Amino acid sequence: MIQINENYKKLKASYLFSDIAKRIGKFSEENPSAQIIKLGIGDVTRALPRTCIEAFHKAVDEMSADNSFHGYGPEQGYSFLREKIAEMDFKSRGTGITADEIFVSDGSKCDTGNFQELFAQDLKIGVPDPVYPVYVDTNVMAGRTGEWKDGRYQGLYYLDSIEENNFVPDLPSEKLDLIYLCFPNNPTGSVATKTQLKAWVDYALKNKALILFDAAYVAFIRDNSIPQSIYEIEGADKVAIEFRSFSKTAGFTGTRCAYTVVPKNCQVYSSNGNIESLHSMWNRRHCTKFNGVSYPVQRAAEAVYSAQGQVEVKELTDYYLKNAKYILEKMQSFGFKCTGGDNSPYIWINGQRDSWEFFDMLLSKAQVVCTPGSGFGKCGEGYIRISAFNSYEKVVEAMERIAKAI
Ligand code: PLP
Repeated sequence: MIQINENYKKLKASYLFSDIAKRIGKFSEENPSAQIIKLGIGDVTRALPRTCIEAFHKAVDEMSADNSFHGYGPEQGYSFLREKIAEMDFKSRGTGITADEIFVSDGSKCDTGNFQELFAQDLKIGVPDPVYPVYVDTNVMAGRTGEWKDGRYQGLYYLDSIEENNFVPDLPSEKLDLIYLCFPNNPTGSVATKTQLKAWVDYALKNKALILFDAAYVAFIRDNSIPQSIYEIEGADKVAIEFRSFSKTAGFTGTRCAYTVVPKNCQVYSSNGNIESLHSMWNRRHCTKFNGVSYPVQRAAEAVYSAQGQVEVKELTDYYLKNAKYILEKMQSFGFKCTGGDNSPYIWINGQRDSWEFFDMLLSKAQVVCTPGSGFGKCGEGYIRISAFNSYEKVVEAMERIAKAI
């Protein structure tokens, strides 16, 4: 008899975005002429930068001739891309990350979800609340949690990200082994200062813990005092992994390219306390289960680092940041307490009412779709997330409609 992994039964039946899609579907059916503006799901709306497209086309053409064709590439990524990443994303920030510590992949969703495979079952795991759901669900699937009770999984340690701590979780009183952090944050849009990140790194060093640092939104940081990489903090290379993605940086959500940094210095332990190499373990895992990102996509990603590519990705993220600023200012002028929206494409809004009630009100009265904060965790109740990923014109119209609706 083929038996299932019973842990899957613990997963909450429906995924946040399918709930949202159902409500939109029902509303559209009942109001077929409604012009809905979507500021919900965090998918980009603007085309790939010109320079990336040109590199992409050129690489596709190379695939059409035997003498320039590329078959399987290195699982870890082509060195032309890894070298550029090391130079431009890390060396330029004064960190010592090298190309062989970078693992190119087809997305940070997979990497943040897969990384937990390398660790023991009985870990104490800290996850922010609210949270990008992938960190939680993949640990549920792996059997590291108990049942879902009162809006949380038993056995996980939730790190409350609330107004009182500016949505940057406080250090836990317990000794955790694995900690997920994400800055600029999805969904709250908060950023962590150097002092706040240092406190986490010091905590991890002291407790022999590991931080999984998700920097998928790093390209939106404009405040120079905010660290762009956790490796800007001394000692972080011993206790932190960093996830980066071209999805939001350069509009690659449908093209798929990301990377994970696993420093060779990173220390993890076997059950007898011996130090093990996390770098070797991830390399082994990556080579066994992954066969590389396609050559044209890696060439397109490489183009992000050219002089013209840098100008274009800055223009792209500036565009969304302009939307974010507009949303932030408008929502504040309507009397809502908000965070995010300056170094982030997300605005986290205290709606002072049930998240889904606010969602339904915006959908029915303004035909604007947001994301209910409660879908990201218990601490998200009462909030909604509005995303800046849409055209400026649509954003302006959405804010006009919201003004009338409220
Ligand atoms: N990490 C966070 C915090 C995200 O919000 C997202 C996507 O929305 C991802 C990772 C996934 O990125 P990718 O498109 O590289 O899979």
